[in-house]
Amino acid sequence: MALNGLRGRMVEVEADIGNTLPGFVILGLPDTALSESRERIRSCATNSGIPLSRRKITVNLFPASLPKRGSGFDLAIAVSTVAANGEIRGTEGVVFLAELGLDGRLRPVRGVLPAVAAAVKAGHRRVVVARGNAAEASLVPGAEVSSYATFARLVLDFGAEPKDLNLGFEPLETGNTEQAAGSSGAEPDLAEVAGQSEARFALEVAAAGAHHMLMVGPPGAGKTMLAERLPGLLPALDDDAALEVTSIHSLADQGEVRRELLRRPPFENPHHTATCAAIIGGGSGLPRPGAASRAHRGVLFMDEAPEYERRVLDALRQPLEHGELVIHRAHGVASYPARFQLILAANPCPCGKSSGKGTECTCTPLMRRRYFGKLSGPLLDRVDIQLPVHKISRAELEAQGSAETTAAVRLRVEAARGAQSERLRRFGLETNSMVPGKVLRGTLRLDGKTTRILDTAMDRGVLSARGYDRVLRLAWTLSDLSGQGTPSADHVGQALSLRSPELSS
Ligand SMILES: [Zn+2]
Repeated sequence: MALNGLRGRMVEVEADIGNTLPGFVILGLPDTALSESRERIRSCATNSGIPLSRRKITVNLFPASLPKRGSGFDLAIAVSTVAANGEIRGTEGVVFLAELGLDGRLRPVRGVLPAVAAAVKAGHRRVVVARGNAAEASLVPGAEVSSYATFARLVLDFGAEPKDLNLGFEPLETGNTEQAAGSSGAEPDLAEVAGQSEARFALEVAAAGAHHMLMVGPPGAGKTMLAERLPGLLPALDDDAALEVTSIHSLADQGEVRRELLRRPPFENPHHTATCAAIIGGGSGLPRPGAASRAHRGVLFMDEAPEYERRVLDALRQPLEHGELVIHRAHGVASYPARFQLILAANPCPCGKSSGKGTECTCTPLMRRRYFGKLSGPLLDRVDIQLPVHKISRAELEAQGSAETTAAVRLRVEAARGAQSERLRRFGLETNSMVPGKVLRGTLRLDGKTTRILDTAMDRGVLSARGYDRVLRLAWTLSDLSGQGTPSADHVGQALSLRSPELSS
């Protein structure tokens, strides 16, 4: 299987043993890793006790025009070569997906989940993978997965003569421990957030309408704690979404054993010093999805957002707009889905000390403008909610009653999501955060009485056209949360206080 982004295409591998001078030729646009695979295959076969033919070997990967990346073709090439020499049979129509080790082992590869899913979709159910990939490949409905630790065991099953095979070799499993990925413990609960009633409510609104959010507050105010609790408020991933999200993670991480699909929305918080490739995606061979893609259908949290590299912040505009990230490479492009909910956090000023009494902040107004200026423009245009987060006082902490749990809030979020998707289906949209201004002011227009406070604010010049749409989006989410069909003037007023004012101006 050749992967481009999450899309997999079938590659047919054929081999011929000729009578001319010895050699080993692989045709069909192999990249560097594929050329190296010749050496791996030769050593692997020899050390497995089934050395390659000494005559001329020609391997063809079809279709030639398809770019083939990564080391996952090793096994298919080795198998077809041995089969062409008449040493094994019954390999036709089987999908082989593994890298070979020089010592004769089969190594797991990245992206087994999307590759196997594509194979099954193309009608090829029989799949052979390395032991370390077996659990993940088996997650694909309809796949008939066999797995092997060594090449010798595999060829034995396909009818090779056992007498010379090195069947005693059992590689130590490295990097593929039983530590299951994705299901690591419970999600943090909202009940653990003391006080912060405004912040809790804003988080609920953000979850209900999938609104992007900016939190501004001093260090230690609990911004990270709040952001970490957002995924728990989001509805579980359905079957298609779970397969898609897990496929991305399958391509991103190596050496994790996945025994189940990811069912909860992911949470990614790349540090601001992370490279552009780590956040956006890239790398040689099979491009690795970055944190923004790993956050697909979940939450991308960027703490100290103004500290990120400018090109990282700029690159995020594309996924916010189109829900995917296109990675440009020497041999074409790859794209990964990246429809995430963006949560930005920032200090009130570059030094972070400007709030509270006895402040030692020495930031000038210019420094503050520059700090937030990095976030301004197209990125903030997409952020519907701006939330000031304060350090809570001891009195607040003591006055705190029993806070609602994540599960309780999620019930309201799920109901609100249901109402939205019902209403927005005819526009091909899922959540209020996706509704464009012309729909808000057109088909979904509210009467003048309801929007009076907004119209006045706009006439006075304190609300921009973008800000106007933002308030309408939030008003719809508030009405969905309250279970009412359409927003009231109260919802509009409440939305006005949640909206993100233009920080740059
Ligand atoms: Zn400061």
